Amino acid sequence: MALTAYDLTGRTAFVTGAASGIGRASSALLAEAGATVHCADMDEKGLDGTRSLIADAGGTAHTHPLDVSDRTQVARAIEHITGAGRLDIVAAIAGIMHSSPVLDTRDEDLDRVLAVNLKGTLYTCQEGARAMIAVGAPGSIVTMASGAVDAATAGLLCYSVSKAAVVQLTKTLATELGPHSIRVNAVAPGWVRTPMTERHDEELQHRAESAMARRSPLRRVGEPGDVAHAVLHLASDASAFTTGQILRPNGGVAMPW
Ligand code: NAD
Repeated sequence: MALTAYDLTGRTAFVTGAASGIGRASSALLAEAGATVHCADMDEKGLDGTRSLIADAGGTAHTHPLDVSDRTQVARAIEHITGAGRLDIVAAIAGIMHSSPVLDTRDEDLDRVLAVNLKGTLYTCQEGARAMIAVGAPGSIVTMASGAVDAATAGLLCYSVSKAAVVQLTKTLATELGPHSIRVNAVAPGWVRTPMTERHDEELQHRAESAMARRSPLRRVGEPGDVAHAVLHLASDASAFTTGQILRPNGGVAMPW
């Protein structure tokens, strides 16, 4: 890499949601920048795909099949990593989407989305930060919010609430972890073409994609690589004086539909 602030040689990263979409692209880019990447996800087959992608490009990746909504599993993975060395970067990307009108939303819908998107992010950040603090190492934590926090969208109550909570979690962590030289920032992407959005309800997908084509100054939807570059920026020393911030790779529109 020509720009040394983005060089992650010798650094170790833990990335959740690494089996697919934005998490896979971010893992691959962090590895390309030189980091050893520990990829975590529930989807073991997808994790193998990410590891091969990174290995084929000459990078180093390890896989950790786990459910981020289970603190014990997250803690075990981090322990495994720190048993072998220092942890420098955490990217809490795992997430799920659920859509239903508010009046049809069931307790179990909200509970599941909050368990993965909020608690999974919290556990990942807490366990990662504890490992960094234990060895007095500086670090960078990147969380995954969404354009859904900037405007209300019909049908996305559970998801929007969970991502708004991620924003507050990120800002609070930034204030508490700053004195330990640990930076915490969120990425809030707009509509990005990934397996998550592709398997989502067709009507919402159509509305979002046509609104992006019409209203985004860039006239396109996002690709996973667009978001991965935001993750790399926040993970690296290029953002050494940036913490508690929300970076929005969204093609110029917060919420288009
Ligand atoms: P994706 O479905 O392609 O990837 C999500 C990954 O998270 C999957 O590999 C899945 O197996 C994993 N995952 C889900 N629940 C998990 C759990 N409990 N434990 C471990 N892994 C789990 O989706 P994506 O679009 O790449 O989304 C990645 C993140 O980006 C999510 O947090 C999502 O909310 C956020 N995001 C996506 C978009 C978009 O338009 N695609 C926009 C804004 C934010």
